[in-house]
Amino acid sequence: MSTATLTIDLSALTANWSALAAMGRAEAGAVVKADAYGLGAARVGRALAKAGARTFFVAVTEEGVALRQALGDGPVIYILSGHMAGDADMLSDMDLTPILNSLDQMIRHLEALPGHPFGLQLDTGMNRLGMEPSEWAAVRDIALAQGPQIIISHLACAEDRDEAMNTDQLSLFRQMTAGLDCPLSLANTGGIVLDRAYHFDVTRPGIGMYGGRTFPQAQPVVTLDMPVIQCRDVAPGEAVGYSRAWIAERPSRIATLSAGYADGILRCLGNRAAVWAEDTPCPIVGRISMDLIGVDITDLGHDPKSVALLGPHQGIDVVGDAAGTIGYEILTSLGARYTRRYLGG
Ligand SMILES: *Cc1c(COP(=O)(O)O)cnc(C)c1O
Repeated sequence: MSTATLTIDLSALTANWSALAAMGRAEAGAVVKADAYGLGAARVGRALAKAGARTFFVAVTEEGVALRQALGDGPVIYILSGHMAGDADMLSDMDLTPILNSLDQMIRHLEALPGHPFGLQLDTGMNRLGMEPSEWAAVRDIALAQGPQIIISHLACAEDRDEAMNTDQLSLFRQMTAGLDCPLSLANTGGIVLDRAYHFDVTRPGIGMYGGRTFPQAQPVVTLDMPVIQCRDVAPGEAVGYSRAWIAERPSRIATLSAGYADGILRCLGNRAAVWAEDTPCPIVGRISMDLIGVDITDLGHDPKSVALLGPHQGIDVVGDAAGTIGYEILTSLGARYTRRYLGG
């Protein structure tokens, strides 16, 4: 095998979804936007449907079309960006449900697809998507007369348990939906973990299913193994890679891996992270190239066939920390060149 291998454990992923679902009485939906956070929306979606998921959320209509083709009829597919100009045929042909974010979207939807199901998003303080209290007050009666399938809002700080904004958003969401006979949804993974008060009728877990630390009990889902192409001895004072960004201070053994920033391994990880050869961490040395990475295997004592960037020793969050970003971006950056293997599901 000359390319790196990305292994996606669908059994772990569906077990994480089931564990999140079991944390409350709400129906657990599943967020599979951005190609299921880079892991493959068709495979992930089918595994989740088999595990019992009936409600899916994607970001844009095109993602909904692909997901419908993978899942077939039955599951509800919500489009978080709502009804965008030109999407009416796709929404109608593929039975997709837009979550309307504004008065403009509502008018567009009611004109283009009267009678077609829709949801609504309310803004409770994130100022990203959804209707603010004043806009909501103006359209509420028209919207409710049409019978929305769901009303959602989104938490800005759910991962920070002490952040006062969580309870502010919760009480505003309650106020804006008081007395309504419509399924409500507020919680992403962070909101599910925060408290049952945030669960309402449908939850929207994403990162927790994919093994992110927001859900501390999550099982790891991804493993990324990179084959070693070549190993060499490097004398003290010699450099490795572009721009001489790492210089050996001792007699060193360097392995060159077949993977690079073209595979979504963030270039800033050069000199800042390690890969694992069995139980031994091997520092990434020098700049990450487009297709190649140098690692210091001196302390390993032998030449490995492959090493892991993601796996049991090191998850997406550890790599995210090293890169100065978050596990989500590590996942969604994963490249297209890997050999992808799916386990279970
Ligand atoms: C991405 C997203 C989610 C999932 O969030 P996680 O933090 O990954 O659980 C839920 N709801 C909305 C509106 C989102 O955009």
